[in-house]
Amino acid sequence: MNTNDTILVTGAGGFIGGHLVADLRRRGFTRIRAVDWKDIADWYQFFPDVENYQRDLKDARNCHEVTEGADYVFNLAADMGGMGFIETHKADCMLSVLISTHMLLAARDCGVKRFLYTSSACVYAADKQTDAHVTALTESDAYPAMPEDGYGWEKLFSERMCRHFSEDFGLETRCVRYHNVYGPIGTYDGGREKAPAAICRKVIQAKLSGRHAIEIWGDGEQTRSFMYIDDCLHGTRMIMDGGFSDPINLGSDQLVTINQLVDIAEAIAGIRLERRYNPDAPKGVRGRNSDNTLIRTVFGWAPSVRLEDGLERTYRWIYDQMTGNAAPATLRDRPRMVAAGGR
Ligand code: NAD
Repeated sequence: MNTNDTILVTGAGGFIGGHLVADLRRRGFTRIRAVDWKDIADWYQFFPDVENYQRDLKDARNCHEVTEGADYVFNLAADMGGMGFIETHKADCMLSVLISTHMLLAARDCGVKRFLYTSSACVYAADKQTDAHVTALTESDAYPAMPEDGYGWEKLFSERMCRHFSEDFGLETRCVRYHNVYGPIGTYDGGREKAPAAICRKVIQAKLSGRHAIEIWGDGEQTRSFMYIDDCLHGTRMIMDGGFSDPINLGSDQLVTINQLVDIAEAIAGIRLERRYNPDAPKGVRGRNSDNTLIRTVFGWAPSVRLEDGLERTYRWIYDQMTGNAAPATLRDRPRMVAAGGR
């Protein structure tokens, strides 16, 4: 990508999309187009010097409108959230296929140079993730297909659409399989938050209220790996720029149990909490980790920010939000800036 190329980021009002726009600006890109269906006042990051559009990308006409003239597309828009959301909104998650489909068609019809699709570790077959001491998932483990119901099926289907748009229509596509991305300036409450932000919030609530107890979903022995946003941005840019077009893992391989994640958050907060386990809460698969052999082989790089370091930065940001020590997460309180840049 060249700094005077026109770059379209969909889902730009969300967590990763907001960081991606901020990162592209820092790197000197001057033609950035940011799109999300949320009210611009609710975007996590907003920049008046970027072309900002509030559009529903399930609608084909909107996709065409925002893609016209774009050189590169980062397609991050999706209706999604943590386990608590995707297990209870399977149809909503699958409807994101309208975004993927219409954005791919728009990219083909508008002559986009390259299209990056953000897939997920939820494409991996459930029977490969039944043990907490899971063997890390390698790209071929997505088949035979048995992905996460709803959300994972949509991601796997859209990955294949990218592949066939590439083969049949000559559209260059890239597919990144993110594994649990976390960091500041993202969702930490309301039902769509993911484990790292949810646990930081619960630990902070316990600290501030003096009620030193925490609810943990399941028995806390399920395992995951978590990738800090800086690694996510680096990898996403690298894969967009690189020559590798098959789906590829983009995730940390530092495997922890949810109990260990709570240990880290407690250490940051300087407290110990009584743990109350909720066996009926959504838990997802028993174990999941990213095998990074492919990304290391192709790019000589893999995510490396330690969970202890990334979680500390995330915790501090959520703490400041919850205690009112920092600017609010969204722009709802800054209407003048919104009026200046939204379309
Ligand atoms: P997010 O929910 O913060 O951002 C997604 C954005 O898409 C939201 O702001 C939402 O309003 C927008 N959107 C949804 N439907 C839309 C529509 N019809 N039209 C326009 N915009 C729409 O999520 P995120 O964490 O930033 O994730 C970005 C992408 O990465 C998503 O595709 C997600 O599935 C994928 N992903 C994320 C993770 C993770 O851990 N965060 C893991 C795997 C994959």
